[in-house]
Amino acid sequence: MLLDSLNRPARDLRISVTDRCNFRCTYCMPFETYEWIEKGEILSFEEIARLARIFIPLGVEKIRLTGGEPLLRRDLERLVEQLSSLPGLQDISLTTNGSLLAEKAAALRSAGLRRLNVSVDTLDPAKFKQMTGRGDLARVLNGLFTAKSLGFDPIKINAVIERGVNDDEILDLVEFARTNGFAIRFIEYMDVGNANNWQTSKMVSKREILDIIRSRYPLQLKGRGHGSAPAVDYALPDGEADLGVIASVTEPFCFSCTRVRITADGKLVTCLFSERGHDLKALLRGGAGDDEISRVICSVWMRREDRYSEQRLEAMQSDGGYKPKDRKKLEMISLGG
Ligand code: SF4
Repeated sequence: MLLDSLNRPARDLRISVTDRCNFRCTYCMPFETYEWIEKGEILSFEEIARLARIFIPLGVEKIRLTGGEPLLRRDLERLVEQLSSLPGLQDISLTTNGSLLAEKAAALRSAGLRRLNVSVDTLDPAKFKQMTGRGDLARVLNGLFTAKSLGFDPIKINAVIERGVNDDEILDLVEFARTNGFAIRFIEYMDVGNANNWQTSKMVSKREILDIIRSRYPLQLKGRGHGSAPAVDYALPDGEADLGVIASVTEPFCFSCTRVRITADGKLVTCLFSERGHDLKALLRGGAGDDEISRVICSVWMRREDRYSEQRLEAMQSDGGYKPKDRKKLEMISLGG
């Protein structure tokens, strides 16, 4: 099995299908400085499917489609269909802002998609518009309920919690998930990309999030799914919702990180906080065979040493402190979450 320098397999492949997004969330989108990827540089569905086929024998079991906003990519269900038929692939999921979900859910479901992650950071329509730059909460909720009626399972709500912005809504979000049968993941606010002016003081820790939830609901620890999932899961007493917290800042989990990413323009990226990617598109379009591409992927992965979040915590606990601007990272809009 392919392992990196810290003995981690490449099990989860996250594929960004576009860097375009119809929202302008402040923690993700560097809209003043970002240069959009040219259309001709975006991988075709056939190129993506070919890469997926090459990755599976190397150990990839799951694929998550991301963006930007993946549902902006026209006919995305065609890609889902191609990926669904790949032998050896155990799971395909999609992360979306939900704004186009109501229109696209049926076609995606018919193509073989079963699992969804939908970002909902607030249940207040005015705050939602402000946090996303332009989003309409009613459309997103309509998308969630449409997907549920079509049988998508699980549907996970992702909520990034930022102090002074939406930390007063943690219990409301749990209640919404519980009463409507959605899973919910709270995510510690992170310093993704270069544009979000992240400060430690804006981050609400896992411990604080759990304290707030426990003020109303007793929680039972379940642990990390498969031992390597980003979220630590908890059971609510009535078992009506699945609840997890992704504590990338205060309890980093790089030691078990099996995530490998491909950007919309075909760069292989080995960490959410990487400074650069490795160009696979040039190989795909330059006539390289599958074996050659596989060898390049292996050589990148075998040299992988990424443990950014662990290093961030070490720096936060040191005298010098952590300086997010010290390292220029790839933007999350081009990588997906
Ligand atoms: S910081 Fe990088 S290596 Fe660590 S968990 Fe996140 S993506 Fe994986």
